[in-house]
Parts: sequence; C-alpha cells; structure tokens
Amino acid sequence: MKLIIAIDGPAAAGKSTVAKRVAKQLNITYIDTGAMYRAFTLYVINQGINPENQAESEACIPDVHIELKPTGEIFLNDQDVSNEIREPHVSSQVSYIASYKAIRLALVELQRKMAEKHSVVMDGRDIGTFVLPQANVKIYQIASVETRAVRRYEENLEKGIQTSLESVEEELRKRDYIDSHREFAPLKPAPDSVLIDTSFMKVDEVVHRILEIVEKKRIVGV
Ligand code: C5P
Repeated sequence: MKLIIAIDGPAAAGKSTVAKRVAKQLNITYIDTGAMYRAFTLYVINQGINPENQAESEACIPDVHIELKPTGEIFLNDQDVSNEIREPHVSSQVSYIASYKAIRLALVELQRKMAEKHSVVMDGRDIGTFVLPQANVKIYQIASVETRAVRRYEENLEKGIQTSLESVEEELRKRDYIDSHREFAPLKPAPDSVLIDTSFMKVDEVVHRILEIVEKKRIVGV
C-alpha cells in the first residue's frame, strides 16, 4: 500500500529531523519542500532581484530547475546548494518568495509528481491542507517559539553559521507571521491532522509517536 505522511508546522519545529527519521524507519522517500522554496529564493537573490518584488521573482520561474537527490542534496540548475540555502540571507527572504502564488504552483506541481509513484514523508507548511490532502497521516508539529529559536541557534552554531539567539527568534516570528497570513495556501493545521507539541519531547519520542499513528492507520487499512 502506498503511504503518504504529511508533516506541517511552523519554522524550526524539528519537522525535517523527525521526517527524515520516520522515512528511514519506513524505508520510504523524504521530501523537504522548504528546501525547494529556499533554492528558488537563492536563485532570485543571485540574480540581483529583490525577493519582495513579486513580478521580477515570478519571472524567474522558467529559469529555475530544482532537483532533490535521493541522497538528500538539493541542486539548483545542476549546482549543489544544500548548504547555501540554510544561510541567514536566504532564511530572511524565503517567506516573500513562498507567498507568490505562481511560484507555489510551480513547486507544488513538482512536489505532487514526487509523491505520485512512491510512498513519501513530505514536510512543509501546506502539505496536509493543499499539496497532498489525500495523505494517510497528517501531523501538525509545533513547539514554543523560544524552544524553536534555541534549537535553530544551536544548529546554526554546529554548521558554523554566525547568528545571535535574538536574531534567530525574530526571524522565526517574522517567517511564521508571513507564512500564516499569506493569501494562498497559508500555514495552518489540516482539520484531520494530529497535533504534536514537541517543546518537551525528544526526537525519538516524536518519531515513535508518528510511527504509532502510522501503524494504527495501517491496521484499519486507511
Ligand atoms: O521548512 P523551512 O523552514 O526550510 O521552509 C522555509 C520557508 O519556505 C518557510 O518559512 C515558508 O515560507 C516556505 N515554505 C512554504 N511551504 C512549504 C514549505 C516551506 O511556504 N510547503
């Protein structure tokens, strides 16, 4: 049976760490949709275009080719941009790009294609509500903004990205605001999603909880 697991939620709620682990346990593909919006943003910035300029950003659509490798790397026009897309200059601009309908529709088309033939765990903001509303399991993963800021700050330190805790928290708040207030496919829980607050949970516990939900669904044959 083909299995589709959607994991949505605000920035830095630990979705990708959990989604990768769930995919590995189930031996299915993990798809990081945030990386696709980030790669698009990097392209726009590299063209010298201001990501707040909708018309100029949307005009880039035919020139942007994004590929997610099975090994996890992300390629933009045949170049590995896996590290660059995590840098603060991309994080601070990505929500503008993600609010443009034409860009979303182009990326959503790719995302749906990737889930057409294979079982997947896909994480993002609108997977359960818009990209794959037919998903077998929908998770809405949250954590307090303070917890998320500390986690992201520590991740940045490990990667050698220089930021302050205050600036990380401010960026997360701003991104969540834009993501949840945009007109088209905003960040919000699907009515049939399971809410998991990871503020006081270890990664293992979250993974275990999701696997339990998947197992229950399988038993009832959904
Ligand atoms: O998941 P990540 O934090 O890397 O996503 C970066 C940004 O991409 C989000 O803040 C949001 O603006 C956008 N995004 C989106 N829809 C998705 C995934 C990400 O709008 N499905």
